[in-house]
Amino acid sequence: MRIAMIGTGYVGLVSGACFADFGHNVICVDKDSGKIDALLRGEIPIFEPGLDALVASNVKSGRLGFSLDLSEAVKTADAVFIAVGTPSRRGDGHADLSYVHAAAREIAANLRDFTVVITKSTVPVGTGDDVERIIKEANPAADVAVASNPEFLREGAAIRDFKHPDRIVVGTDDERARTVISEIYRPLYLNQAPIMYTGRRTAELIKYAANAFLATKITFINEIADLAERTGADVQDVARGIGLDNRIGAKFLHAGPGFGGSCFPKDTRALVKTGQDYDAPLRIVEAVLTVNDNRKRAMARKVSAALGGNLRGKTVGVLGLTFKPNTDDMREAPSIPLITALQDLGATVQAYDPVGMEQARHELPDITYCDDAYACATGADALVIVTEWEQFRALDLAQVKQKMKQPVIVDLRNIYRPEEMEKAGFTYESVGRGKA
Ligand code: NAD
Repeated sequence: MRIAMIGTGYVGLVSGACFADFGHNVICVDKDSGKIDALLRGEIPIFEPGLDALVASNVKSGRLGFSLDLSEAVKTADAVFIAVGTPSRRGDGHADLSYVHAAAREIAANLRDFTVVITKSTVPVGTGDDVERIIKEANPAADVAVASNPEFLREGAAIRDFKHPDRIVVGTDDERARTVISEIYRPLYLNQAPIMYTGRRTAELIKYAANAFLATKITFINEIADLAERTGADVQDVARGIGLDNRIGAKFLHAGPGFGGSCFPKDTRALVKTGQDYDAPLRIVEAVLTVNDNRKRAMARKVSAALGGNLRGKTVGVLGLTFKPNTDDMREAPSIPLITALQDLGATVQAYDPVGMEQARHELPDITYCDDAYACATGADALVIVTEWEQFRALDLAQVKQKMKQPVIVDLRNIYRPEEMEKAGFTYESVGRGKA
């Protein structure tokens, strides 16, 4: 199959490289010349484990190419994937579909023989209808089928997720589209990944329902954590105790500083807006958003409480800035409102992240960036663990303590045990582990 991937970001680049690895011929297109130039030089513009080797081997085999020119890629393609961004629209929280619509218009002008246009971006229910209308208006003669194929990969484990998905969702009623898409994914379902065919609108809604459900699970356990903290219960054991029930499942029950990232916040906001537009309000998801938004600043108050209720004149070290480990993605990372709140409370902040600092500088220009975790601890009145990078799980605690001004650690990811921290001489606060 010949595939054009429009949008070469976290999703487009990973999907394009994996499709090439399956044996298809893929051209990844982007408008960002910085990105395409870097890829043509053999550099990967994002941090995603394993992606550099996957891209290099498929470029070498001649199956993966990069271009700024959408027209050539689309003209020769059997399938065109739209994988452009769908951020929150400024001001109202709806998904901003301007990139999707613009891509559809550009694709329309370049369609030749029968082509399947597949929306991989996360888009509100009904967007496939818009894409189809835009293409038909721009190019009435086009022989095209528009399908939905939402992507479920997680940054940090994107290649594995793409190659071993829990399911592949394909939304189309068109037989020819179904044949093309099943051919594209054939290498995967030979490995028994369930492929699920639905209507286009259903596929679009599956993606939002999945993200909203996961965001709800996180928020639920975060509120249980607050209750555990005040009642002398341990949220880790509560999570295990409920997660062992197959109907609930153990995943996404880790209490922490609140969800962030490039998907959950914007997708829950967009789903709430869609619900309102259709007079089917999603009250649970609305509550999830409010609870989660309040949580980040509440975490700053937790740090303040650990230092006796006053952060004025205090230095706080922050370990981890990205919204989760193994990515450089800073979009809506909880560290941003948390650090801003620490500064509002009067603290001076110094931070370290293994790969996110370059991106973080745009969002957090007025903090000090450190060379490693120990430099971040140096002179600090409190050290806050915000992102659970592997390298923070086994810190040399004696060295950390020796470098800090006061031995206070606030572990917002529960990666240490209270007993071990106490033994090491720290005042240790974590999330939802109440003292009975
Ligand atoms: P991204 O911002 O990393 O990448 C989007 C790319 O599209 C950018 O490089 C941009 O320059 C390019 N672009 C925009 N308009 C274009 C056009 N007309 N022609 C060519 N290129 C264009 O975004 P992302 O994280 O890859 O997300 C893409 C979509 O996938 C979003 O809808 C997102 O919700 C969804 N998604 C993301 C993830 C994730 O983990 N990041 C997971 C599942 C789904």
